[in-house]
Amino acid sequence: HVNEEWKRSDEYHNSFLIPQDDSMEAVMKNCETQGLPDIAVSAAQGKLLNLIAKSIGAKKVLEVGTLGGYSTIWFARALPTDGKVVTLEIDPHHAKVSQENFKIAGVEDKVEVVVGPATESLPKMRPDIPFDLAFIDADKEGNLFYFNEAKRLLRSGGIIIVDNVVRYGRVSDPNYKDSTIEGVRELLRALKDDKNVDATTIATVGVRGLDGFIYAVRK
Ligand code: SAM
Repeated sequence: HVNEEWKRSDEYHNSFLIPQDDSMEAVMKNCETQGLPDIAVSAAQGKLLNLIAKSIGAKKVLEVGTLGGYSTIWFARALPTDGKVVTLEIDPHHAKVSQENFKIAGVEDKVEVVVGPATESLPKMRPDIPFDLAFIDADKEGNLFYFNEAKRLLRSGGIIIVDNVVRYGRVSDPNYKDSTIEGVRELLRALKDDKNVDATTIATVGVRGLDGFIYAVRK
């Protein structure tokens, strides 16, 4: 599904805007060596997440779906020294690799990994200080549950970003009925009547093909 022109375009723009990054290269190499799937956000998307976190002066970020911690590191780099990313991961191997990667990137003091299904970890969370931003990027069947928990855990004015909501246009194609696609549709239906958030979908193209994210602001 990766169109060569989109890939070339991403790489062209990145060559101006995203400097060569040895520790991120080492992180990606570690993910590959340890057999993690190649499904992290792209560099351009990671940097966008970083810039959004910086723009709102985020101190606390919630992430659902860690994998090898690539997006987590982009967030951690945006935070002040006393900032924190709490990232939730079901797979103990992914969690272990991510912990190694946080050390490689020098952000281990800013990251807390919670291992277990997010459907169990999230309801237990009762933070003293609410989160500024939530990034939802785990199993798509859980999207609505994670979104509602993120709303509960976020400050007013906080941002919720949900990844992979376009899926090569399949979400809008009635021929696709699998549970991952349905997980996105279920969230969209709920957002239509949700008075507590204001949201839009931004479709994207690049090294990850045609996809997109929901950007929602908590009222
Ligand atoms: N955010 C990561 C990045 O961009 O670098 C990529 C995350 S990857 C797309 C999705 C991750 O969610 C996988 O590591 C998977 O094991 C995890 N996951 C799947 N179901 C989960 C669940 N129920 N609770 C927590 N994590 C889950």
